[in-house]
Amino acid sequence: MLTTEVENYPGFPQPIDGPDLISLIRKQAERFGAEFIAGDATEVDFTRRPFKIRAGELYEADAVIVATGASSRWLGLESEKRLRGRGVSSCATCDGYFFKDKDVMVVGGGDTAVEEAIFLSKIARNVTVVHRRDMLRAARHLQERAFKIEKIRFLWSSVVEEILGVDRVEGVKVKDLKTGWLNTYSCDAVFVAIGHTPNTEIFRGQIELDDAGYVKTQAVTRTSREGVFAAGDVADRTYRQAVTAAGSGCQAAIDVIKYLESTGA
Ligand SMILES: Cc1cc2nc3c(=O)[nH]c(=O)nc-3n(C[C@H](O)[C@H](O)[C@H](O)COP(=O)(O)OP(=O)(O)OC[C@H]3O[C@@H](n4cnc5c(N)ncnc54)[C@H](O)[C@@H]3O)c2cc1C
Repeated sequence: MLTTEVENYPGFPQPIDGPDLISLIRKQAERFGAEFIAGDATEVDFTRRPFKIRAGELYEADAVIVATGASSRWLGLESEKRLRGRGVSSCATCDGYFFKDKDVMVVGGGDTAVEEAIFLSKIARNVTVVHRRDMLRAARHLQERAFKIEKIRFLWSSVVEEILGVDRVEGVKVKDLKTGWLNTYSCDAVFVAIGHTPNTEIFRGQIELDDAGYVKTQAVTRTSREGVFAAGDVADRTYRQAVTAAGSGCQAAIDVIKYLESTGA
């Protein structure tokens, strides 16, 4: 069964529980003097230094690293919420391994959905892509690759109405949008791949965001505002893995040190 286990973080030959990994990273950061404040940042002012961040109290900083991540988009079904972590996932790279030789569904029709379907076809017995339109939005080369893989089949013009199962996924109820018919398919996992929303609402107007809301960066973690840096999934449309987020966090920290040295702060 799916858990919060992380299989692919370097340095852990055995899977490590996600919360345990976070706790170890936090302890290590504390050893180097990092201070943690619990709370949500609700407003920022990056127009002049010191930068201001409202998180309950008002905090001031000479440099900021934005690392607020990106949230997976979900279908919004009660059954999806109940079975999350019990066969419902938003990350094939993270959880696909748990469904070796099983039947899995992928919901979506963009690049991510097709990439996930191709990835899962190497692990699962069968992969069914459920897409609400009658053609994919994914890049042509991805479509061509997916269409060549016999294990991948498509349910066109269809939406998932309900995910079935009591304490693990056992199937899905799918509505055919052209006929209105409801069909039930058995499967062991449902990968929801309908996109991510970067958590950047409070930074809108303060730093440049791309059309999907991700923080725009250059060389490598600098944002459009001098002294404000970004790391991890909030600036990453592609990889979205713990190790890549940690790596870019390291890059941002080094960039901050160089920036502060250059300003004499
Ligand atoms: C179910 C699941 C399983 C996964 N499994 C794996 C795996 O096995 N291996 C792997 O490599 N990756 C896995 N990932 C992906 C991995 O978790 C992310 O790539 C990684 O956590 C990104 O790190 P981050 O620091 O950029 O963002 P996050 O880890 O998302 O951290 C962002 C933090 O910022 C906080 N935040 C957001 N807005 C605010 C605000 N306004 N004020 C204050 N705080 C804020 C959030 O609460 C969160 O704590 C998984 C993801 C999911 C959802």
